[in-house]
Amino acid sequence: MKKPPIIWLNVSVFVITFIIALLGVPYWAITYGFSNIIIIAAVLSFIYCGMSITAGYHRLWSHKTYQAHWSLRLLFALGGAYALQNSILHWSSDHRVHHKHVDNNDKDPYSAKMGFWYSHIGWMCREYQAHRYHDYANVRDLQKDSIVMWQHKYYLPLALVMNIGVPLLVGIFAGDIWGSLLMVGFMRLVLNHHTTFFINSLAHIWGKQTYTDKNTARDNGILAFLTFGEGYHNFHHIFENDYRNGIRWWQFDPTKWLIKLASYLKLTSKLRKVPEDKIEKAKLAMTLKLSQQKLQLHPQAEQMLAKLQQEYDLLMAKMNAYYETRKQLINVKREQLIAEAENSELMKQYKELKQRFIEQKRSWKLLTTQLYQFN
Ligand SMILES: [Zn+2]
Ligand SMILES: [Zn+2]
Repeated sequence: MKKPPIIWLNVSVFVITFIIALLGVPYWAITYGFSNIIIIAAVLSFIYCGMSITAGYHRLWSHKTYQAHWSLRLLFALGGAYALQNSILHWSSDHRVHHKHVDNNDKDPYSAKMGFWYSHIGWMCREYQAHRYHDYANVRDLQKDSIVMWQHKYYLPLALVMNIGVPLLVGIFAGDIWGSLLMVGFMRLVLNHHTTFFINSLAHIWGKQTYTDKNTARDNGILAFLTFGEGYHNFHHIFENDYRNGIRWWQFDPTKWLIKLASYLKLTSKLRKVPEDKIEKAKLAMTLKLSQQKLQLHPQAEQMLAKLQQEYDLLMAKMNAYYETRKQLINVKREQLIAEAENSELMKQYKELKQRFIEQKRSWKLLTTQLYQFN
């Protein structure tokens, strides 16, 4: 099949910035060195661009997982232009298609099933989906956001001002314009590009399928470190409306921390979270599935499978009872009956059910880890 035409603008940007960063930065470092001001400005710019994409383009605009004050949206819009990843409108439109048709080679714009290169950068190098390039029907809601539309209209001048203007200003301030253009301009941009692109490529190849195996998305702590928390991509693909990607407190997700922190300053609001029991159920269903697969090879497979199913059903029953009571208790508390609730029958029941659920979970863990040791 004939390949679609090459998009020379994109290819030139990727190739030229990559070569200059790869050769120019080490040359300048050896010949003249970089001052601390330039290094700090490059690191701050990297964080600013990266998080404008993760917190702004991705979790705010593409998925609407929270709401943000106009000042923060403006900051993200400028940071997104600085990151040179197309306008918010375009990026979000692509991304919504990616979620809706994930892994579908004909529809997903960066389908992981097309291989690493295609999902990483190849999809932007040729006119693969030219027919829907200007189709923004799936982002009508974003067209009501004046900052989104302003950034879309003036994307090119904004991108030029940010990518040339900021490094130039830093260079004048540091007394080393070329050094700043190389480090704050080129190096920072290349690192921003490829770390973001990893989410479409590596995060669909490398890591664990903790919550679902219905798509290729993976959870990967190392990638989370490089991508401001977006490495928990398996969780994200099943629960895309959650403002968090790394849901445990110890999981590295600075985007989640930023959104939460901004909520204390009233800059963000309506942070959306998936109910805990839904998350837990998805995870347990995956463990059950994996354990069943492992057990196929067991000498007493039939007996063990029955035992596994029995334990799983017990766990589900206890979990449902626990979460149902917890929901009731929260309602009671909401009605400002805390004092009564403390001594109520419901509270007693809740504590008891919680204990039973925890014990059942322990026995489930024991059983499934034993299974893993067997193989
Ligand atoms: Zn997403
Ligand atoms: Zn994805």
